[in-house]
Amino acid sequence: MTQVFYDKDINKAALEGKKVAIVGYGSQGHAHAQNLRDSGYEVVVGLRPGKSQEKAQEDGFETKAVAEAVAEADVTMVLLPDENQPKVYEDSIKDNLKSGSALAFAHGFNIHFNQVVPREDIDVFLVAPKGPGHLVRRTYEEEAGVPALYGVFQDVTGNATDVAMAYAAGIGAARAGVLETSFQEETETDLFGEQAVLCGGLTSLVKAGFETLTEAGYQPEVAYFECLHEMKLIVDLMYEGGMENMRYSISDTAQWGDFVSGPRVVNDETKARMKEVLSEIQSGEFAKGWILENKAGRPQYNAINNKEYQHPITKVGQDLRELMPFVKQPVSGKKKEGNV
Ligand code: NDP
Ligand code: MG
Ligand code: MG
Repeated sequence: MTQVFYDKDINKAALEGKKVAIVGYGSQGHAHAQNLRDSGYEVVVGLRPGKSQEKAQEDGFETKAVAEAVAEADVTMVLLPDENQPKVYEDSIKDNLKSGSALAFAHGFNIHFNQVVPREDIDVFLVAPKGPGHLVRRTYEEEAGVPALYGVFQDVTGNATDVAMAYAAGIGAARAGVLETSFQEETETDLFGEQAVLCGGLTSLVKAGFETLTEAGYQPEVAYFECLHEMKLIVDLMYEGGMENMRYSISDTAQWGDFVSGPRVVNDETKARMKEVLSEIQSGEFAKGWILENKAGRPQYNAINNKEYQHPITKVGQDLRELMPFVKQPVSGKKKEGNV
């Protein structure tokens, strides 16, 4: 079985005395910067002038232009949006990295798909938390953590693995479990997970359920609670104790319905589509489409984003959540909304 590492297994000294530049202060950036600082490491935040820079300064960080932050760092963690990384790497990172320092990522996309070709005299590793950035911060503050994968692409110093593992521990991931991967495995599984299951699969499932009920004449509020709100309560039970724990908690009627109806909804055809999605990720077709979409100024992304925002589930959800202030959690970092 794959070895999963925890705090006690990790050589924290590998990162001690090193200066870490966190480039970007969004969802992941604010969490890495704050967790590493609280773990006792020296952090400088690299940014352009703007909202994130103000936020990082409010949070007590020294901020510098990306080039300057990189120039003084022993580890540079790139937490910019994936689509901006190649240009910022060329313009501000590449020529400023200290020889023998480490360049790090939280997702393997740009290295794996050759959008960033790293210099040969530096270490290159990834530490990819398996959770959204604001939870990387929130769980850290609760003495818990989000698990993470680490992987090494280039090891010129011979220390890249130890530094990557110590970095993962520094952001709190080794409280939950840290395991080794490759850039290829991280990139392909991460893209597949978010597309087919976690984000794309989930939103499509919720919408299809909501539409089925409302089109049959049921109240949208009832459909919202049934298909979206309760999802979290059910998923929390799976998070805490697996599918068996969730099934233990639900009624036997619900469990029987789960057995007989679930596989009719998510069936062999769905799985065949999942395989299609995976093979487009593996072949680079998905990456090519996303890179070109960005080059074109995101016409399709914006059109779909606006259309999705108009879906009836958005409005009914907003109205219902207004009346449930307790469900609102402060989300630091970015907040994504329809760009209407
Ligand atoms: P965000 O979009 O939340 O944040 C991006 C940050 O980069 C902002 O602070 C933004 O600042 C800054 N930025 C953007 N362009 C530039 C630029 N040209 N120069 C300087 N700063 C810039 O990114 P995420 O945290 O979502 O993603 C970061 C990385 O983490 C990606 O590789 C992603 O795949 C990975 N990841 C993300 C997860 C998540 O939970 N979101 C989960 C796991 C991995 P400004 O305010 O100036 O625009
Ligand atoms: Mg992910
Ligand atoms: Mg991802």
